[in-house]
Amino acid sequence: MDYKSLIRVIPDFPQPGISFKDITTLLKDGQAYKSAIDELAEFAKNKDIDLIAGPEARGFVVGAPLSYALGVGFVPIRKKGKLPAETIEASYDLEYGKDALAMHKDAIKPGQKVLIADDLLATGGTIQTTVELVKKLGGEIVGAAFLIELSYLKGRDKLKDIDVFSLVKY
Ligand code: IMP
Repeated sequence: MDYKSLIRVIPDFPQPGISFKDITTLLKDGQAYKSAIDELAEFAKNKDIDLIAGPEARGFVVGAPLSYALGVGFVPIRKKGKLPAETIEASYDLEYGKDALAMHKDAIKPGQKVLIADDLLATGGTIQTTVELVKKLGGEIVGAAFLIELSYLKGRDKLKDIDVFSLVKY
């Protein structure tokens, strides 16, 4: 499937110099969305995964259907201050800006195998922080799956020792 032709590229969003990859144009194509998730599921299926963890908001759009496809649980990672129960937190830098992510303290049990899912790997800061949160709770990271990887930002270099899969590379 030619996923790239379905991803809309918006120059200078959300600020000058950023070439934003807009996946909404892919998501509204039911066949393409299903096929994309199926390909990520194919990557993940032999990893004996217990849980998928995905950062809000687009990580939910990828991680939740992947959880459903594999029949494993989903752990939402949210911006600080949104989760209702006791959390652990870690701060991170974005391609544009800075923020903190949080996860429920009881979301992962020590030794559980976790796959991380998000829409896009840019500098890797978001996923590095997600990895930090999962590891703090004793989870074992068995891989990371993305729809898109911006190879020129070298996010993969931050994820050494992690099996990284991306469907479309720029
Ligand atoms: P990173 O932390 O630099 O790897 O940035 C990845 C995060 O920023 C992901 O959660 C993306 O949703 C978001 N992001 C960064 N650039 C883009 C883009 O071009 N399109 C969509 N999301 C982006």
